[in-house]
Formats: sequence, C-alpha cells, structure tokens
Amino acid sequence: MLFTADHEEPRRILQKFIAAEINPHVDEWEKAGIFPAHELFKKLGDLGFLGLNKPVEYGGQGLDYSYALMMAEELGAINCGGVPMAIGVQTDMATPALAKFGSDALRREFLAPAIAGDMVACIGVSEPGAGSDVAAIKTTARSDGDDYVITGGKMWITNGTQADWICLLCNTGDGPIHRNKSLICVPMNSKGVTIARKLDKMGMHSSDTAQIHFDEVRVPKRNRIGEEGLGFTYQMVQFQEERLWGAAACLKAHEGTIQETIEYTRNRKAFGKPLLDNQVIHFRLAELQTEVELLRALVYRAAEALVAGQDVTQLATMAKLRAGRLGRELPDACLQFWGGMGFMNETLVSRSYRDSRLTSIGGGADEVMLGILCKMMGTLPGKQ
Ligand SMILES: Cc1cc2nc3c(=O)[nH]c(=O)nc-3n(C[C@H](O)[C@H](O)[C@H](O)COP(=O)(O)OP(=O)(O)OC[C@H]3O[C@@H](n4cnc5c(N)ncnc54)[C@H](O)[C@@H]3O)c2cc1C
Repeated sequence: MLFTADHEEPRRILQKFIAAEINPHVDEWEKAGIFPAHELFKKLGDLGFLGLNKPVEYGGQGLDYSYALMMAEELGAINCGGVPMAIGVQTDMATPALAKFGSDALRREFLAPAIAGDMVACIGVSEPGAGSDVAAIKTTARSDGDDYVITGGKMWITNGTQADWICLLCNTGDGPIHRNKSLICVPMNSKGVTIARKLDKMGMHSSDTAQIHFDEVRVPKRNRIGEEGLGFTYQMVQFQEERLWGAAACLKAHEGTIQETIEYTRNRKAFGKPLLDNQVIHFRLAELQTEVELLRALVYRAAEALVAGQDVTQLATMAKLRAGRLGRELPDACLQFWGGMGFMNETLVSRSYRDSRLTSIGGGADEVMLGILCKMMGTLPGKQ
C-alpha cells in the first residue's frame, strides 16, 4: 500500500498550512502576477516540506517517494495552479538530478539551501527555438580551464525572476546531440545572467515565468551535475518526477472544481429546479469524478513502481498524457454548467480552466508523451 498511517501527520500539517498560509493570499498573488517565493519557501522549508524524499545529509527527510507524491496531491487544494507549480519546480523539477547525481560539495552549495527554503531554484531546459525537441537546444557552455563560459538563452522559466540558481541544460561538447549536454548549477546573480522579460501568460498568473539570457557567464566546472555529456540522460530521469508531479497535483484540484460545480448548480435554479437536478449535469459530474479516480489509480501505480526502484518512464508518461487530456476536458465541462459566471474571472472554475490548459504543454506536450510511448511500444515508423 502506498500510504500508511505515517503519511497522515505530514498530510494534516500541509493541509493546515495551505488553509492558513497560502489560500488566503492567492487572489492577491494572482493579481500581482507573482507570489513571494522566498517568504513562502522558507516557511515550507522550516516544516520540512521542501525535502521530504531528499537525503538527510542535506537537510531532507530521507523518506521514500510516496511522501513527495502525498505532498503533490495535497498541493492541489491550493486555489490556483501557479503556486503549486512553483513549489513543484523547487521539489520535483529543478532538484531531483542534483540530489541523485550531484557531488557532495554541489549538493551542500545548492541542494541544502533549496531544501531549507533559503534559495529558490528553477529549471532551464526550454529555449526560444527548442521546447519539445530538447536535444536541439543551442545554449552552450564552452570549456575554459577550470571554468565553463555559458552563452545562450532560456524561455518560459518558472520561478525565473525570483530564483537564486538555475539547473541549466546546455551543450558542453560537439558530439552526438544526446551525449553532448550537461546539467550545470548556475547562480542567477552571476555576471552575464539577465532576466530579459517576465512573460505575460493566459493562466498560472501567480507564478512568475521568465525569459533569461546568458552572455559569457563564467561558472566553475565543479558546478556541473555528475558526468560531462550525461546531462540529457539526467534530464530525462528528472522529467519522470516532473511528469508524475504534474499528474498528481491535478487530482485534488479537479475534485475541488467538481465539488464547487455541485454546490453552484445545486443553488442555481433554472426552469423551476436546481441545475444539478438535470440528469445531463449530475451524470456528467459523476463521469468526471470517475476520470479523476482512474488517473489517481495510474499515478499511484507509477509511484509504487518508483518507490520499488523501477523505471517508470512508461507509466509516468501515460499519467502526464492523461492528466493533460483531463485538464482540458474537466474544467471546460464544469465551466459550462456555471453559465455566464463560469466566464467571469472571479470564479475559481475560470481560473482552473486557464491554469489547467498548461498540463498538455508544459514538461513535454501531449504529442511528445505519445512519441515516447510509441517508441517504447515499437510503433514509430522504421523503429520495429
Ligand atoms: C507557463 C509555462 C511554464 C513553463 N516552465 C518551464 C520551466 O520552468 N522550465 C523549462 O525548461 N520549460 C518550461 N516551460 C516550457 C515547456 O516545457 C514547453 O513550452 C514545452 O515543452 C513545449 O515546447 P514548445 O513550447 O517549444 O513547443 P514546440 O516544441 O514549438 O511545439 C509546439 C506544439 O507542436 C506539437 N508538437 C511538438 N512536437 C511534435 C511531434 N513530434 N509530433 C506532433 N506534434 C508535435 C505539440 O502540440 C506542441 O505543443 C514552460 C512553459 C509554460 C507555458
């Protein structure tokens, strides 16, 4: 069984924290287009939530992945997608490779403060010219004695305007495109790093997203995670946790949307009866709840396999794909039952409609997930 009685206390603490320290501020942060990452992460770090499954030597709790999954699911109770995503970047997207493959010194310098909430992290993979095709990135780290000198640019970087360091994927050699990359921890206050712009988005408003330029940025080679040339492989491993996180974090959020829709349609009357009394509405909501439960079963199965040390590429990819599809279907179906109020920015269902759209794109688009699955199934043309 994935969850035991031991998960209950941290779950309860997190639920209380979200209710007291996050949800009361979400509307204000959504309006501001940013949330105070340092302030919030410090509080989460003090409670141990930024390193549940990270090594104890660096301040983590040393627990297995089921605790990280529990946290991802609970973050779905936050009244927006932006803040949970920013927390997920810190715990499950920018730091897993460093925790697994980084040197002791590098983990002390970057992982320990990220776990404590003293530093905000971001992950730099996508570029203006390469998102789905990760291997085609152009940012390059040139070797110069004991240093790398980095030139290029990253696009759509979550936490990018507030981050203290970036886990940067760049080319460190001229070899084959899957063997010429490295992940490097780059302090964001390094000379030559500039935030080109804070991006204006259709959703995820409380999360800051940046375009970042690197102009001859010098960092010591000891900032490289693991071996030179293995960055693409490390990033593919790191993506498994990112994708599973994305699927887990939407479960409670979708259930919240269903519950709000039940409440609204129960109270709203049309043609002399509550909207909810129309079979087309209550049947549809039951169908959507079933979809959430199906996705949850897949996510839990993938998490169990991860805890058991198995490769979860296929299951995590399927979960991310399904989460993306449901993220488009469920808020859209619910919003419809809110009528005009569903179209108003003041309702959570409209926020969910905007925010959930990202799941089909970020961390690898649906079509990229399908490509991975087809490769594993041996159904890509010429790949039998
Ligand atoms: C709000 C937000 C936050 C993000 N945060 C981060 C972050 O923190 N760090 C980071 O590195 N990146 C981040 N991203 C980037 C995200 O991961 C990319 O946008 C995503 O991987 C898609 O890349 P792209 O936008 O370049 O799309 P493209 O590669 O240009 O693809 C466009 C579309 O083409 C289709 N497509 C692509 N390939 C294929 C194919 N082989 N077959 C069929 N169709 C295909 C898909 O529908 C895809 O959506 C973020 C993006 C957003 C919007």
